[in-house]
Amino acid sequence: MHKKIYIPMLLFLLIAGTLLGISVQATDSELPTQTEEPTEPSSPLKETIVLEGKMINDELYLPVEALNRASELDIQWNQDLNAVVFSTGTEKIIVRQDYLASEPSTVQEIKNPDDLLVLVNKKHSLPADYVPPDLVDPAVPSIKSEGDPSRLLRSQAAEALEEMFAQAKEDGIELYAVSGYRSYQHQEAVFTRVAAARGEEKANLTVAYPGQSEHQTGLAMDVSSPQMNFGLSQSFGHTEEGRWIAKNAPDFGFIIRYQKDNTHITGYSYEPWHLRYVGKEAALAIAEADITLEEYLYDLEFYSKLEQ
Ligand SMILES: [Zn+2]
Repeated sequence: MHKKIYIPMLLFLLIAGTLLGISVQATDSELPTQTEEPTEPSSPLKETIVLEGKMINDELYLPVEALNRASELDIQWNQDLNAVVFSTGTEKIIVRQDYLASEPSTVQEIKNPDDLLVLVNKKHSLPADYVPPDLVDPAVPSIKSEGDPSRLLRSQAAEALEEMFAQAKEDGIELYAVSGYRSYQHQEAVFTRVAAARGEEKANLTVAYPGQSEHQTGLAMDVSSPQMNFGLSQSFGHTEEGRWIAKNAPDFGFIIRYQKDNTHITGYSYEPWHLRYVGKEAALAIAEADITLEEYLYDLEFYSKLEQ
């Protein structure tokens, strides 16, 4: 179904455009849009269909589905959308790059660290001096003693965690907070220790480089249970508590940040204990679509450009 067929025409357009010094970038006004068409009740309305292509060696391969729809290939490259746009007469087809192709090749410094939807991963690093503005100690059972900074979360996340733990208790589920906020300096100490034992590359499979841990945002909390001896391991996902979390966390604005089979996107293996606060709307949308935060943010940016 996702067999890709290469369209040499796109490459031709890009090369021709470069050689002739003309831009093949389609501006919004050049694209056929619904509003430009005479709207008669009998004529079929134009529909916008978004498909995902695959970037291989800087060339976008279109999915077969796109080619099947094309009665006439009037392909344009839209630089702003990073997508190929064409029309079939009744539909506007947009083939965008897959998420992985859009990833930066170098580590970027995060510009919106206070944003509840901030993206922190191996490509997006927090400034060393970043400390969340509103850290509080959530009133939930914790394995850490009072005064330990790793009990802390940002206020909105803390409130949501309290609500979630209260609901869990009502459902007969016993949860404990294990580790929340982690300063840059703390991450540095942990990484140095693990890297000395295992080597940097192996260490980075489970431990973040300083500045690349979500725990520095104050929006992430690791949770466990007495049954797990308060430990953090993948078997937590099979326990009653782990299953309760997977099912209910989005209702409180949390996602399980590192799901199974998403290591190629998130950079981390499955962590059923690592909760990330993103707010209810995003958490429910991410759970519903069964996608990662990376893909959710990519979609959000893409569709907001599409609406402009
Ligand atoms: Zn964690």
